[in-house]
Amino acid sequence: MNERPHVVIIGSGFGGLFAAKALRRVDVDITLIAKTAHHLFQPLLYQVATGILSEGDIAPSTREILRRQRNTTVLQGLVTDIDLAGKTVVWRQLDEVRTTPYDQLIVAAGAGQSYFGHPEFETFAPGMKSLDDALELRARIFGAFERAEIAEDETSREKDLTFVVVGGGPTGVEMAGQIRELATTTLAQDFRRLDPKAAKVILLDGAPQILPAFGEDLGARAQQALERKGVDVRLKAMVKNVGPAGVTYADAAGHEETIVCGTTVWAAGVQASPLGALLAEQAGIETDRAGRVPVEPDLTLAGHPEVFVVGDLASVKGVPGVAQGAIQGARYAAKLIAARVRSGNPRLAADQPFSYFDKGSMATISKFRAVVSVGKLRLSGFVAWLMWLALHLFYIAGFKQRVTTLLQWAIAFVGNGRNQRAYTHQQLVGRLALERLGQHVSAPLLEGQEIDPKWAGPRQTP
Ligand SMILES: Cc1cc2nc3c(=O)[nH]c(=O)nc-3n(C[C@H](O)[C@H](O)[C@H](O)COP(=O)(O)OP(=O)(O)OC[C@H]3O[C@@H](n4cnc5c(N)ncnc54)[C@H](O)[C@@H]3O)c2cc1C
Repeated sequence: MNERPHVVIIGSGFGGLFAAKALRRVDVDITLIAKTAHHLFQPLLYQVATGILSEGDIAPSTREILRRQRNTTVLQGLVTDIDLAGKTVVWRQLDEVRTTPYDQLIVAAGAGQSYFGHPEFETFAPGMKSLDDALELRARIFGAFERAEIAEDETSREKDLTFVVVGGGPTGVEMAGQIRELATTTLAQDFRRLDPKAAKVILLDGAPQILPAFGEDLGARAQQALERKGVDVRLKAMVKNVGPAGVTYADAAGHEETIVCGTTVWAAGVQASPLGALLAEQAGIETDRAGRVPVEPDLTLAGHPEVFVVGDLASVKGVPGVAQGAIQGARYAAKLIAARVRSGNPRLAADQPFSYFDKGSMATISKFRAVVSVGKLRLSGFVAWLMWLALHLFYIAGFKQRVTTLLQWAIAFVGNGRNQRAYTHQQLVGRLALERLGQHVSAPLLEGQEIDPKWAGPRQTP
């Protein structure tokens, strides 16, 4: 019988994958369970949504990445329960339900989109958290131009060609810039009855500036660059409603305005995985407002030194919800587990608390233009864009993915082409179908429409 300690890792994102990799030479058996069979490079999701990259470029198979790591088993499954007292994880793949015991557990289940108490917005404004989201948005964005081409009156055409992006963080800024660039370059010659350059892209944010994490100066520079591209940036704009007709927001003076639009992208707010609440309840602690779990200085759960929570699911003072936060947390947890295995003490305390090293932030605004903030260095423009390019290429997992990404970038940035414009009908209507199955949000599909109870199946939460 195998006596090696069993480490279970939940999630194959930056936290889960880097934890598994960091344990490759440690004398343990690892089972990595994640609801998707791929590792998703979320920072480039917007490029999948806007036709630059394919989904395979940013989502290599986790099984393939870890194929040579003999101490690791990769399983695709949705974790539905964690029993801290019994030290087991319950997960399922379709109808198969399994229970897996652990000696050490690393929970890196990340976060989803938050609609700030309005889950009904989701039907009309997909977020940007998964491949499903990005492919559906691709279908909606390219589909909007197709609808506009056959529109029979100017009002409908204008609606189809109006895109609203909610959220002025890096994802919102990148999406707004890319949709506008798509309209003014890639699609410029492709239609006969409409001028794609007439597409309106409106970026809404409740804050007084975009990219607040980059500071006032870079935020202002990014805003100017977006405006030069033709993006309409509206700040201090609080979104009140999102529906089939468009987006209603209140400005700083409290006046409400409805933007009639065909496509809305939601890039505001995160909500931690429901596994966070499940852990917190059993540990007798409270999650923060975003559902994240406050952890001990060594990233373990209060009263459970064998359970680590890392990445976007953990609430750690001074650690932002970025890839480096998850990677560094995962490596720290793996190091402590390795020390425990060496010492034979599964509850060995850490000699140092976790400390986060801020490597800076970056965001692209458009082709050849990005903003970078590293330490005291603040850069915007072409050099920043080159830094962004090199760093993203470095962190994309898999050699094949790096080669194909570089090729797609050459097509998109040197020429104005986009190789990934295809979308399927299923992607376009997927959310509505899930809704009918009761597996997405509980809101009606369209105003006044009821969900047929015949369709309401079990929900896929958490
Ligand atoms: C659109 C977008 C752009 C971003 N851009 C940047 C950027 O430019 N720079 C940067 O540093 N950061 C960026 N981030 C943030 C960064 O991607 C996250 O901080 C990072 O992915 C967090 O890693 P994680 O492992 O905690 O979670 P994730 O990477 O989200 O991984 C969570 C994993 O858990 C799995 N999972 C979730 N629930 C369950 C369950 N119940 N059962 C089984 N598995 C489950 C998921 O399938 C996934 O594999 C961006 C995020 C998004 C969404």
